[in-house]
Amino acid sequence: LTNQFEDAVKAFKGEAKISEENVDEALKQVRRALLDADVSLSVVKEFIDEVRVKAVGTEVVRGIDPGQKFIQVVHEELVNVMGGENDPLANSEEQPTVILMAGLQGAGKTTATAKLGLLLKEKNKKPLLVAADTYRPAAIDQLVTLGKQIDVEVFNLSSNLKPEEIAKKGLEKAKNEGFDTVLVDTAGRLQIDTDMMGEMVRIKEAVQPDEVLLVVDSMIGQEAADITRSFHEKVGITGAVLTKLDGDSRGGAALSIRKISGKPIKFIGTGEKVEALQPFYPERMASRILGMGDVLTLVEKAQKEVEIADAEIMQKKLQEATFDFSDFVKQMRMIKRMGSLGGLLKMIPGMNKIDDGMIKSGEDQLKKIEAMIGSMSVEERNKPELLAAQPSRRRRVASGSGHKPADVDKVLADFQRMRGLMKQMSTGGGLPGMDGGLP
Ligand code: GDP
Ligand code: MG
Repeated sequence: LTNQFEDAVKAFKGEAKISEENVDEALKQVRRALLDADVSLSVVKEFIDEVRVKAVGTEVVRGIDPGQKFIQVVHEELVNVMGGENDPLANSEEQPTVILMAGLQGAGKTTATAKLGLLLKEKNKKPLLVAADTYRPAAIDQLVTLGKQIDVEVFNLSSNLKPEEIAKKGLEKAKNEGFDTVLVDTAGRLQIDTDMMGEMVRIKEAVQPDEVLLVVDSMIGQEAADITRSFHEKVGITGAVLTKLDGDSRGGAALSIRKISGKPIKFIGTGEKVEALQPFYPERMASRILGMGDVLTLVEKAQKEVEIADAEIMQKKLQEATFDFSDFVKQMRMIKRMGSLGGLLKMIPGMNKIDDGMIKSGEDQLKKIEAMIGSMSVEERNKPELLAAQPSRRRRVASGSGHKPADVDKVLADFQRMRGLMKQMSTGGGLPGMDGGLP
């Protein structure tokens, strides 16, 4: 761990439970991380209180570091608050689906309108972009240019019509000409302003949108909270697009938007190009906000896949040296569900320098062992000593798996040595350099 969470994790060193006493220091670090990520102060406070309640009393599974467990609780809570899953774009049964874009000037509305147009087009939809930003002629040109680029039609009228009238005419055109989605781009202002809100409300009444997407620049920081509150109270939003995440913003605005409006962030903008739009995943954003990256992913995956009970059974088996080939296969499957061996190793801090050749040969070796286990009878898997005792069994496994008898002998010897080592570790306080060992 290479950030402030190092301290949060340290706060728990040697403790097996997260308690009122030891959680405070760690929460302080989380608070700082969230503020650094530009989550608004009121949202941070509320979030910290929730995490405290969740974390205190959380039992920590043997072998898992309580500090990491704590981070996991924080991460889970972040994911929950941000909605858990990705929310797709509205798709109304009665066509066309109408999507209204809202937000401050410069947030990325016009760009996002075109990006969504492209996304829909790629899904074989027929979108119509409507230029209802009547304040700056340049804004209409911008949408027209983007429309050409993605080969999607843009509706614009350079008359003196009001934005709501343009929007309405755009919708009529869509109905008459069989467009299935209408994306209405609107004029923002540099700041929250009653004029803009009034205009948005009128456009909303005119076109009765299925979706009002608030476009927020992720670089705007703490202000995201006020922007969301205003737009949601005055206009009513159904979701948001968080833009400019290709910059170095930590994305804390996502948490503020969701907490304040209760509405999902549906997409993120990751560049100026029209292709640079991605669905929003709470899980990824939580990691980004925490700045945890892959370390957390590893803890997460391990937790998900290794059922607590299962882990304890394995531990006991290792201690008693009754770990057999069937258990080995089970372990292998767990590792595979967690991703490739190489991917897994590279997620461990300090292991990123492990070279691909090493990983490849490790993977090859595992494949070889798997093939051999596949050629063993159930009895042999459960009692590796049968194989050790009878060379004829080893020869059968060798020919069945396409390997030499010497290879089988070697694997078997290694396996038994590993069992011995495990037993030693569990009874003798661990290997040098290992912190603690098993209780
Ligand atoms: P609007 O005023 O809300 O319509 O904002 P625009 O769509 O005109 O975008 C304002 C500026 O931000 C433009 O220069 C865009 O190219 C840029 N922009 C929009 N979205 C993104 C994004 O996701 N990443 C980056 N780097 N730039 C973006
Ligand atoms: Mg614009």
